[in-house]
Amino acid sequence: MSASAAHDHALAPNDLEAFWMPFTANRAFKKKPRMVTGAKDMHYLTAEGRKVVDGAAGLWCCNAGHNRDPIVSAIQAQAGELDYAPAFQFGQPKAFALAARIAALAPGDLDHVFFANSGSEAVDSALKIALAYWNIKGKGSKTRLIGRERGYHGVGFGGISVGGIVPNRKFFGSLLTGVDHLPHTYNREEQAFSRGEPAWGAHLADELERIVALHDASTIAAVIVEPMAGSTGVLPPPKGYLKRLREICDKHNILLVFDEVITGFGRLGFAFAAERYGVVPDMITFAKGVTSGTVPMGGVLVRKGIYEAFMQGPEHVIELFHGYTYSAHPLACAAGLAALDVYRDEGLFERARALEGAWADAIHGLRGLPGVLDIRSVGIVGAIDLAPLKDAPGRRAFEAMDRAFHEFDLMVRITGDTIAVSPPLILTESDIGDIADKLGKVIRAVA
Ligand code: PLP
Repeated sequence: MSASAAHDHALAPNDLEAFWMPFTANRAFKKKPRMVTGAKDMHYLTAEGRKVVDGAAGLWCCNAGHNRDPIVSAIQAQAGELDYAPAFQFGQPKAFALAARIAALAPGDLDHVFFANSGSEAVDSALKIALAYWNIKGKGSKTRLIGRERGYHGVGFGGISVGGIVPNRKFFGSLLTGVDHLPHTYNREEQAFSRGEPAWGAHLADELERIVALHDASTIAAVIVEPMAGSTGVLPPPKGYLKRLREICDKHNILLVFDEVITGFGRLGFAFAAERYGVVPDMITFAKGVTSGTVPMGGVLVRKGIYEAFMQGPEHVIELFHGYTYSAHPLACAAGLAALDVYRDEGLFERARALEGAWADAIHGLRGLPGVLDIRSVGIVGAIDLAPLKDAPGRRAFEAMDRAFHEFDLMVRITGDTIAVSPPLILTESDIGDIADKLGKVIRAVA
């Protein structure tokens, strides 16, 4: 296409061809787009003026709701004051202020923050820090990384290697070595319709002992799990499971990483799920909610002992050969500080905790609707498993998402035949009722 043709093309209304959309059924979308043009608080707005309830907090990220004045003004002011500053060998004050604020929210001695720009980068950073740490400690044979089936850790090569989602791995094979996986923790027979953490399943953490026996602890660097697996359908950890993982990691000198890209910043009623579950991991990866989704940012919280292990040798020498051009970008730092202010000033983490019961009642109230096989809830997250259509897995939930948006003014996420909901934490009891009501209509519509 010539430059002028491309220009004309781009000006044509409804031209959706050029954008190869991520994690999207492109052809279906482009035939019947689910397009939003604005947002405020709990809603997306469409060009036709419809208000669509954001049942997904964007992509599990807009925890403070949309276009919140304090966050918008902070980003605007920052753009006019210091648009960009390198974080390699130079600094800007908000990066240090934000790192200190995040560390103050984290449990234990998770005192240091390495900044990235997304969850995927946060995960790859954490895995690299784990490998480098053991090298520095003179234990370079500890290179194996242990993830979990049904885990999602983003789309970098590190993240898909430890991740446990088959389609995310099977096309990208050859670099994915030196990993093993714990079993996932979901068992419908034992756990169906659990509210919060299921009672069954803590023993599955003992599978780590089997993996250690197989490979030997001297080859294992780290275990990475999501405290609550989000992207594969909302799987809260069985009661006691994470504590058991921590004990086994301690016993064998293996680092434990919690991927809190979804669970961080209030989603489960606490700043981090680590606090909810009373377990201090060695690293926490975060992203999404740190800026309430407004500017891309991710990062890794690291325990003091790990950071200090790196701070040796001549002082002019770089301690960790890793970082991103946009690590601690000034706009992201300004957005992060403002988002943390909103979370604190409006008590949004406590609000999530206080509303968890009402939320669970509403979501579990959908039990018994046609085609509903299981419902799970924890914090302000819910998941509804629908019976797959014969010979067309994923089709029913896809239709549910599409019709929810077009007919019932509700945005939801889907994975397989599961509908996942995780609205902004500013929601009210009336929003909870509204979301449950719309979900009920959607489920009936696709039955
Ligand atoms: N880790 C977890 C637990 C996630 O849920 C996600 C995204 O949903 C990621 C990592 C990847 O984050 P990003 O899409 O920002 O790269």
